[in-house]
Amino acid sequence: MLEGKVAIVTGASRGIGAAIAKKLSKNGATVIVNYCGSAEAAKKVEEEIIDCGGEAVAVKCDVSNYEECKNFIDGIYKEYGQIDILVNNAGVTRDGLLMGMSEEDFDTVINTNLKGVFNCMRFVSRYMIKKKKGSIVNISSVSGVIGNPGQANYSASKAGVIGITKSAAKELAPRSIRVNAVAPGFVESDMTDKLSDEVKEKAKKVISLGRFGKAEEIASVVSFLAGDESSYLTGQVLKVDGGM
Ligand code: NAP
Repeated sequence: MLEGKVAIVTGASRGIGAAIAKKLSKNGATVIVNYCGSAEAAKKVEEEIIDCGGEAVAVKCDVSNYEECKNFIDGIYKEYGQIDILVNNAGVTRDGLLMGMSEEDFDTVINTNLKGVFNCMRFVSRYMIKKKKGSIVNISSVSGVIGNPGQANYSASKAGVIGITKSAAKELAPRSIRVNAVAPGFVESDMTDKLSDEVKEKAKKVISLGRFGKAEEIASVVSFLAGDESSYLTGQVLKVDGGM
C-alpha cells in the first residue's frame, strides 16, 4: 500500500508515534523515526522495523527548533530524494490550572505541539510541492476540540493544529498535497500513564466503548490517511476516541 514511499514520523521513539512508524513500515514505507530525548528507545523502534524486513532510521531533531527542523528535513530529502508522508505526532503535556500555569509550561507545550507542526510542514511542503504529491497527517487531540480543565496550554496547541491543518489543506490542495488531522481521545501511553486512577476512571465513563484506545488503533487510521486509499480526503479531522 505504501511501497516506495518515504515517511517521516515525529516523536516516534515511544507511544503512538512508535506504533505509527511500525504500521507505516508494515504497509511498505521507508520510515524516518524521529526522536528528541529518547535515543535508545528510537534505536529500538528502528531495529524492530529492520528485523521485520522494513527500512527505518532513527534521527534526532527537536521539532520545536526551527533551524534543527530545516536541517533535519533537508538532510532526509538529500538522502532519499523524496518525502511522501509527514506525520506530525511529537507532543508533550504540562498540565495545570490556568491561573497557576507558568509561562514556561505554556511556551513549551505551544512550541512543541503547534510550532513543531508548523516547522515540519514549512520545510516538508517545499519538497512535496516539487513532486506535486504528498500526504501530511497531524496529530491533534479531542482536548483541542472540546477543551479539558487543566489543559489550557495543551488544548490551545491542539486546536491550533486543527487550524493549521485546515489552512494548509486549502493552500496545498492545488499541488495535490493532502493535509488531515487525527484527534485521539484517551490512548494508553506514557502520556496518559501520568493521569491519576481517579481521572482515568472518570474518563472511561464518558467513552462509549468503555476503555482507553491502543496506540495501534490510532496508527491504522493514520496509515489510511497517509496512503492513497484516502485520496479524496483533505482538511478533515478524524476523531478516534471510542465514541466520547
Ligand atoms: P508519549 O508517549 O509521551 O510520546 C511523546 C513522543 O513525542 C515521544 O516520542 C517524544 O520523543 C516526542 N517528543 C516530545 N517532544 C519532542 C520534541 N521537541 N521533538 C521531537 N519529539 C518530541 O505521547 P503519546 O501519548 O504517544 O502522544 C503522541 C501524540 O498523540 C502527541 O501529539 C499527543 O499530544 C497526542 N495525543 C495523545 C493522546 C493520548 O491519550 N495518549 C490523546 C490525544 C492526543 P522523546 O522521548 O525522544 O523526546
